[in-house]
Amino acid sequence: MRASRFFISTLKEAPSDAEIVSHKLMMRAGMIKRLGAGIYTYMPMGLRVIRKVEAIVREEMNRAGAVELLMPVVQPAELWQETGRWNKMGAELMRVKDRHGRDFAIQPTSEEVVTDVARSELRSYKQLPVNFYHIQTKFRDERRPRFGLMRGREFTMKDAYSFDRDVDGLKKSYQAMYDAYVRIFTRFGLEFRAVAADNGAIGGSGSHEFHVVAATGEDALVYCPTSDYAANMEAAEALPVDSTRGAATQALEKTATPGKSKCEAVAELLGLPLARTVKSIVLAVDNEDPAKKEIWLLLLRGDHELNEVKASKIPGLSTYRFANEAEIVEWFGTPPGYLGPIGTKKPVKVVADRTVANMADFVCGANEADFHYTGANWGRDLPEPLVADIRNVVEGDASPDGKGVLAIQRGIEVGHVFQLGTTYSEAMKATYLDEAGKPQPLVMGCYGIGVTRILGAAIEQNFDDRGIIWPTSIAPFEVVLCPMGYDRSEAVKTEIDKLYAQLSEAGVDVVLDDRGERPGAMFADWELIGVPHRIVVGDRGLKDGNIEYQGRRDTEATQVPLAEALAFIQ
Ligand code: ATP
Ligand code: MG
Ligand code: MG
Ligand code: MG
Repeated sequence: MRASRFFISTLKEAPSDAEIVSHKLMMRAGMIKRLGAGIYTYMPMGLRVIRKVEAIVREEMNRAGAVELLMPVVQPAELWQETGRWNKMGAELMRVKDRHGRDFAIQPTSEEVVTDVARSELRSYKQLPVNFYHIQTKFRDERRPRFGLMRGREFTMKDAYSFDRDVDGLKKSYQAMYDAYVRIFTRFGLEFRAVAADNGAIGGSGSHEFHVVAATGEDALVYCPTSDYAANMEAAEALPVDSTRGAATQALEKTATPGKSKCEAVAELLGLPLARTVKSIVLAVDNEDPAKKEIWLLLLRGDHELNEVKASKIPGLSTYRFANEAEIVEWFGTPPGYLGPIGTKKPVKVVADRTVANMADFVCGANEADFHYTGANWGRDLPEPLVADIRNVVEGDASPDGKGVLAIQRGIEVGHVFQLGTTYSEAMKATYLDEAGKPQPLVMGCYGIGVTRILGAAIEQNFDDRGIIWPTSIAPFEVVLCPMGYDRSEAVKTEIDKLYAQLSEAGVDVVLDDRGERPGAMFADWELIGVPHRIVVGDRGLKDGNIEYQGRRDTEATQVPLAEALAFIQ
């Protein structure tokens, strides 16, 4: 590619709504362009990365025996009604009507459609197992789209669906996908960790998440450095409370150092970065059923409704349901006078109104007047049962496998594999005929990868103060050739054109910067864009028969004899 014929558009400053480094750098490097909340145009530079991610995913899916098809983005509501998800999914499911007033969903995922394919196409056990996948646009009307491609509303996902005769078959299909995911994330050149995503029955988890390890990740991962134990916080929380309660209290005591507020101590205890993850600590009353006088303590990571809380739909949410007001008083040792009025009319809407960092004295952050307890000052030790309930697992707890102690790190969920069983096939009557000619429900698994999220995750793990540092396998270009005076020096032009031709011929994804930019601006652009290898050709080096090579992480350039340049870069 010649840079003059490509489209490069870099910025000195990131827009103010970009909060995290990957979002800032992707905007500055001209990889994406915002169209609306969580909706982006993938600009030519960003699209090159997406296509490389897709190519690796596709290769490994095919290698694992999955078969590609392409299912529609707009899907009839009837299918979603069959499984009940039309009602169950809530506001995240984007719904549209056609000119006849018929309802459609814009797919957030494709279980319904693939099960519809399966029930008409898979008739005999002889056709099984089979695994269908596609790489397709998804739409989820996320409550808080943020961080650029990391939590978009429109995004690209690879989703695969396996169909087997029985649970044994499903386990094999699942393992094949798990192994493919390990290969995929290894090929991306990213540090990742697979974690159990449910507490599972003995003998293994039925679901795993793949996380790119990054300090800015939204999820807390629990793992044992000296064994294979790894789970996300929700799965790890399912451990018996008694085994960890003591440790939790100890950890709180340890972190409750003078000069540190209680909220900082709790955030630290929970392994949550301040001001990013815990958005609000709320005492809320369930006004839907005022007779019950249910009072909840909510430790929220975002904005949520109490309905969601009660359905336990919020990942990483910690709650404690108080039986009555007296219990609150008992726990906090505070007279009821500190509590605000209890509303009884509207459903409670819990909206985070401040971050933990701002809650210096750990005052609970209720917001809607008359609908929450407000002003509860927790500037005291939290009682032990509460701490244990907030989070069962803390750093240093014994690993459930008895092979060491637990550590916590943060991750970005980039993949998810799930043993679905027969939920969808039973709801949609998707059966095959066994050897005896008897209909049996298809046993399903589903497997997702957040293709566009990978870009953000890769950058969160690989950047410096000059910009992005792409792993070579997914870089927009592998090598950039920078001529010193392309229009001025005949020698430079001849040699760099030759090198460009040779590298292209050899299948290297190379870009020649023939834009005529000055060296400083040219270097700054490619460092921001994150091309992993740079070659500079100038008269001075050529005089000694050399070109200059610098890897994106190198602090200094290396002189390479021109004759060896091709071999060196390959
Ligand atoms: P999250 O917990 O981040 O909301 P999820 O568990 O809802 O993700 P899945 O339904 O498991 O997501 O979808 C499979 C994959 O799609 C996820 O592992 C993630 O990589 C990606 N993904 C999900 N939601 C988004 C989004 N809003 N933007 C970009 N990628 C997403
Ligand atoms: Mg989600
Ligand atoms: Mg998730
Ligand atoms: Mg998931």
